[in-house]
Amino acid sequence: MTDKTKHLKEKLREMQERGEVWELRRLNGPTGPRAIVEGREMIVFASNNYLNLAGDPRLREAAIEAIKKYGWGAGSDWSIAGYTDLQDELHKKIAEFKKTEAGLAFQTGLTTNIGTIAKIVGRGDVVLSDELNHGSIIDGIRLSRADKVIYKHLDMGDLEDKLRQVHDKYEHILIVTDGVFSMDGDVAPMDEIVKLADEYGAMTYVDDAHGEGVLGGGRGIGVEFGVEDKIDFQMGTFSKALGSVGGMLAGDAETIEYVRNTARTWLLSAAYPPAVTAANIKSLEIVLSEPERVKRLWDNTKYFKKEMESMGYNTGNSQTPIVPAIVGDTKKVRELAHRLFEEGIFVLPIVFPMVPRGTERIRNQINADHTREDLDKVLEAYERIGKELGII
Ligand SMILES: *Cc1c(COP(=O)(O)O)cnc(C)c1O
Repeated sequence: MTDKTKHLKEKLREMQERGEVWELRRLNGPTGPRAIVEGREMIVFASNNYLNLAGDPRLREAAIEAIKKYGWGAGSDWSIAGYTDLQDELHKKIAEFKKTEAGLAFQTGLTTNIGTIAKIVGRGDVVLSDELNHGSIIDGIRLSRADKVIYKHLDMGDLEDKLRQVHDKYEHILIVTDGVFSMDGDVAPMDEIVKLADEYGAMTYVDDAHGEGVLGGGRGIGVEFGVEDKIDFQMGTFSKALGSVGGMLAGDAETIEYVRNTARTWLLSAAYPPAVTAANIKSLEIVLSEPERVKRLWDNTKYFKKEMESMGYNTGNSQTPIVPAIVGDTKKVRELAHRLFEEGIFVLPIVFPMVPRGTERIRNQINADHTREDLDKVLEAYERIGKELGII
């Protein structure tokens, strides 16, 4: 019998040879600024858990209470018979958090993007998309069958040129961008994007996955730039700073109602367990009521970034708690990551095709509850090993 998946296995082997296969690291307990990884305690510098909410006792407690009251599974899609009063409360909380009229939860951020973008534009429309947008945005655009025009990363001049080229030819235009870009930690100028969108009659969509809990006092990029009522679609996720899982969408009431009635990922996929809903509500409450948490995150970020730069590391255009150490050499970045890991610092090398060749890096992600000793230990190791390897 012929092996019908032989070509896939060959592709896998090629990926293995190029070092493109993810090696999984096993955590043996909760994640936090520190965690037990492969049996030993490490400083975690590779997690999206910016505000240290993933292990927060109040989220656990909210989930446990919800399990007692609602059981485990939701029993159905939200659209059919899996919608609870808790879910209703979460939708209101999302709107309050984002300062919009309405909010909607999805299973994940990825399904929010794919399901929403596929239905808000279609054949005969055009999407203008930043060249470094997240893969789930790219997939959503593909599913929509709208035409796609890529503009240069954060280049407002290029965005305007492209708007000028398309605005007569298409009925509807959508500008879509990540808020915070996950590999570089740089930020989209939402005030300028919204202004251009107004001039050319385009809708705007921002993916705030790495902005919530970080920008705008924790509320995200819309509030950061004071344009929360001018962005048509604010998408987000509970899986990063909010320490949980689940996607969200915020906007005006009728637009959200339209998405809820058309997005296949909302209509045709199961509700997550009510315990997740309860934890997500609690997480939004904590971010709003504990601004000092966001402040600690920024204090740590500023300290770490300044010290890395003064040692001679290239942190690119980082403006957020994503602080890359750009090495620009696959072998060296792997060696650096390996050495840091050996010293109890959980980082991962990020190489082509995740980032362009020549910009291979370690992506450091800061936690609000990293102590000064944690940061100093990491900085000392970066300095010593970086010098040994001739990086700085
Ligand atoms: C993580 C991420 C997503 C996906 O969110 P999940 O809730 O983890 O599915 C989407 N967009 C961006 C920019 C992200 O960083």
